[in-house]
Amino acid sequence: MAWFLQGLFPLRRVVKRWGYGAIALLLASTIVVSTPTASQALDFGDIFNILRNGVRVFQLSNLSDQQEVELGKQIDRQLKQSQIRVITSPEIVSYVDDIGQRLAQNSNRPDIPYRFQVVRDAKINAFATMGGFVYVNAGLMVAADNEAQLAGVIAHEIGHITERHAVNQMRQRAIAQGVASAAGLDRSRAVQIGVELALNRPKSRRDELEADDLGLTYLNRTGYAPQALPNFLRKLLRASSPPTILSTHPDTGDRIAILEAKIAQIPNSQRGQDGLDELEYRKRIDSWFKISPANSQRRRQ
Ligand SMILES: [Zn+2]
Repeated sequence: MAWFLQGLFPLRRVVKRWGYGAIALLLASTIVVSTPTASQALDFGDIFNILRNGVRVFQLSNLSDQQEVELGKQIDRQLKQSQIRVITSPEIVSYVDDIGQRLAQNSNRPDIPYRFQVVRDAKINAFATMGGFVYVNAGLMVAADNEAQLAGVIAHEIGHITERHAVNQMRQRAIAQGVASAAGLDRSRAVQIGVELALNRPKSRRDELEADDLGLTYLNRTGYAPQALPNFLRKLLRASSPPTILSTHPDTGDRIAILEAKIAQIPNSQRGQDGLDELEYRKRIDSWFKISPANSQRRRQ
């Protein structure tokens, strides 16, 4: 499509006469009448690159995988520069990354790169941005009873990525803030919104239930005991002060009931069994995070 337009309207002349806005409108109106494909989405990125003198503009309605991964990388960089500290111990990183990579390969979107990182934060939380970036707080690793529970949370976050929830939320926020032009969203603004969403994701019952549903599927496909996901939620529900991860999600009782109904439909022979060894998990986690007996006691309640 890009070459077609270039042939019809010599860009330099159009820009000189009508300015960049005219080009944006021209292209935007062209998007509506045609069915965009992945390759066309890339063409648009390229043409805007040229038009805006290197300021990358994203069309969030048809972001390619490549663009999403690129955006995810920038958000990750910005998050680590200003908002979060990640743990770099190779042993901890490779343990979590290995769990995540196996789940991602069993997801509905195995063909983008994934990266799983541990945040140095005692709060029980996990979050995902876009383009394969997932973050788990050390506090959540400590709170889980076994590897299957940790894997369940990671699988839920992968569910958000496979359904492109962050991309959709970014589009909604850009529209709400009035910062998306007809041409799209410029890169620095996109990264800024991506960081805001990562740290403070708005509640969306539909997104969360979808991530639960897919997470459960990915967990089971990877061989982990699917019951671990509702079990972990039940454990968090019993905690005296509800952790951050619950406050950003729909009613926990509903989530548990829905998950358990879905597990009941999986035949016994197809149910994963792995990841339930609590002793092995605690030994590993306690040695990494040097849990004091008081914390350990609180954790078991
Ligand atoms: Zn979620």
